[in-house]
Amino acid sequence: MATNSDSLYAARAPIFPKRVSGPFRRLKWQIMAVTLGIYYFVPWIRWDRGPDLPDQAVLVDMAGRRFYFFWIEIWPHEFYFVAGLLVMAGLGLFLFTAALGRVWCGYTCPQTVWTDLFILVERWVEGDRNARMRLDKAPWSARKWRLRLTKWTIWLLISVATGGAWVFYFTDAPTLALDLVTLNAHPAAWSAIALLTATTFTFGGFMREQICIYACPWPRIQGAMMDEDTLTVAYREWRGEPRGKGLRRRAVAEAAETTTRAAGPQIGGRSPAIPMPGMPTGVGGPIPDNAPGDCIDCNACVNVCPMGIDIRDGQQMACITCALCIDACDEVMGKIGRPRGLIDYIALADAPAEREGRAPRSVWRHVLRPRNIFYFALWGGIGLALVFALFIRPDIELTVAPVRNPTFVTLSDGAVRNAYDVRLRNKHGEPRDFTLGVTTSSDLSLSVEGVAETSVEVPADAQALTRVYVTAPAGAKAAQGDTTDLRIWIMDDISGERASAPTTFNGRGTR
Ligand code: SF4
Ligand code: SF4
Repeated sequence: MATNSDSLYAARAPIFPKRVSGPFRRLKWQIMAVTLGIYYFVPWIRWDRGPDLPDQAVLVDMAGRRFYFFWIEIWPHEFYFVAGLLVMAGLGLFLFTAALGRVWCGYTCPQTVWTDLFILVERWVEGDRNARMRLDKAPWSARKWRLRLTKWTIWLLISVATGGAWVFYFTDAPTLALDLVTLNAHPAAWSAIALLTATTFTFGGFMREQICIYACPWPRIQGAMMDEDTLTVAYREWRGEPRGKGLRRRAVAEAAETTTRAAGPQIGGRSPAIPMPGMPTGVGGPIPDNAPGDCIDCNACVNVCPMGIDIRDGQQMACITCALCIDACDEVMGKIGRPRGLIDYIALADAPAEREGRAPRSVWRHVLRPRNIFYFALWGGIGLALVFALFIRPDIELTVAPVRNPTFVTLSDGAVRNAYDVRLRNKHGEPRDFTLGVTTSSDLSLSVEGVAETSVEVPADAQALTRVYVTAPAGAKAAQGDTTDLRIWIMDDISGERASAPTTFNGRGTR
């Protein structure tokens, strides 16, 4: 019979990350400001594309089947640009994970950024770690209700703004904002906002680290991308252990009076002579081999961790490498007069050297290695190819679909006629007249259904479908033969730009 200890379900233990300051925390604030700023304000940037075209700089126009990105306009048949960008994003993740571990998770993942923002609000309203822990344990009172309702209200406002900002990317933002305010918005907009509000509120406010640990596949994939040269957040246990509260200072003081240790590195032991990044010289002094390590077991690194883990237990799937424990520990090291870097960005490959008191390899030796250079070259190559394709893509295009029912008709004078559906695309901001023609070694002529000339007007930034006939006189080789290769071409009457597409002509021989 299953007992409580056999249960496969572990209730979530609430985490109350403590405030911390330091260079990594500042970097995270800066990245949060930039990423949230981009997300919330980009839909409001205007971009003049001329009359009849949307003036929103970044717009996914589902109804018009276009993606606008400043001066770039992607048509549905150019989806390879989006595919290329997705491949670049994937390769970028490979590159950063191989070089710097889960740097995406720790600094720029939306789940991390919004959770960070929600924790900031929580701290403003309810206080720092200890105050929040007390409040959590306290029975429900007027004060607790007031604080909780204030926090939830601010979270909800952030969540609504998040869901609202998302839908602004899919339609004209000022128009939709007015529709929302006057309650005239389309139900699809309300549904999207409601869904994103609910997910932001729940994921950022209540599920937090559980999304990273249980819902996100990335922690499971990253293990295959990291190797011993990857720089990731880790604890220098050879320097910190054996840990103990307040023991370090006493040991150093006693050592100064009674013990002089031979200079030089200690194989398998801990030595203050180990060169760490930022280590001041002359700090610490000689200590006995059996003295406690630099870790004073203050738990500062655990208390600031948004994932609620102890980095001293080694690499863990839950660690998002946010580096806040580095800031916390560096502050402690500063207070006890020890060099920073007990917790740091470390490559596993450097551990043996550091244990033996040798200097680790430079950061650049870890970053600039063949694997990362290969990822970067691939990433840059695809990027250059996309830019090149963007600049050489034509402003007019056509696709030709032969009508095959029937494959040809014989006219009263014996001539043979084939029909084609030609889709014309005009990417200019104004209407353009396209002249159509046919190129072949045989004697063929082209006409457009419903008009006397071979010219068709295509509206601005639009496509037009037109039926085209190609005719071979009765005595022509193409009329009597099997199939004849030809090209249907179009010419922009204003710019003279041309485009063409290959197809075939069916003669009587195909019967
Ligand atoms: S142990 Fe915690 S605080 Fe340290 S990097 Fe990992 S997730 Fe961040
Ligand atoms: S913050 Fe540093 S000194 Fe304090 S427990 Fe963590 S590793 Fe040890």
